[in-house]
Amino acid sequence: MKPVIALVGRPNVGKSTLFNRLTRSRDALVADFPGLTRDRKYGEGLGASKPFIVIDTGGLEGGEQGIDFAMASQSLQAMEEADIVLLLVDGRAGLNPADIQIVDHLRRNNKKACLVVNKIDGIDENVANSDFYSLGMDTMFSIAASQGRGVSSMIDYVLADF
Ligand code: GDP
Ligand code: MG
Repeated sequence: MKPVIALVGRPNVGKSTLFNRLTRSRDALVADFPGLTRDRKYGEGLGASKPFIVIDTGGLEGGEQGIDFAMASQSLQAMEEADIVLLLVDGRAGLNPADIQIVDHLRRNNKKACLVVNKIDGIDENVANSDFYSLGMDTMFSIAASQGRGVSSMIDYVLADF
């Protein structure tokens, strides 16, 4: 069985950009407005140390209703299906209450998870990371999904456990 990696996080943090890079596709829609990926989307991980499945999700803000609730349910389901969750956060925007809610959810469900600080291109990586230490995540990566920076070393580290 290939390990299943779910990408979760708030809308617009770069999940679909990372998904496209991991699957070497242009399939997942990337946009400047949040919430474009309503359903979860599965892809075949390519070019890493071993094959894997990656799930892109629409994003979680916390307290969703209506269509946003449907989108959030997809994210919750993806987390359930995953062997490991990559929680993406925006290194430029800094810590958001929704990030804390997602971490709480992962802890309550004993889910194996890593924190991924994205969009570190052109900013101070250490400053960006420090905003997220309070989440208390054991494993943290800094990446720039749009440039591919840090992506392959992150994925090989994650896959080493499987
Ligand atoms: P999603 O809603 O989490 O799937 O986010 P998207 O992948 O659609 O990306 C949202 C926006 O962030 C898009 O404009 C992307 O081009 C941009 N973005 C994604 N990754 C990076 C990155 O590493 N650096 C920068 N500067 N922008 C990024
Ligand atoms: Mg998306």
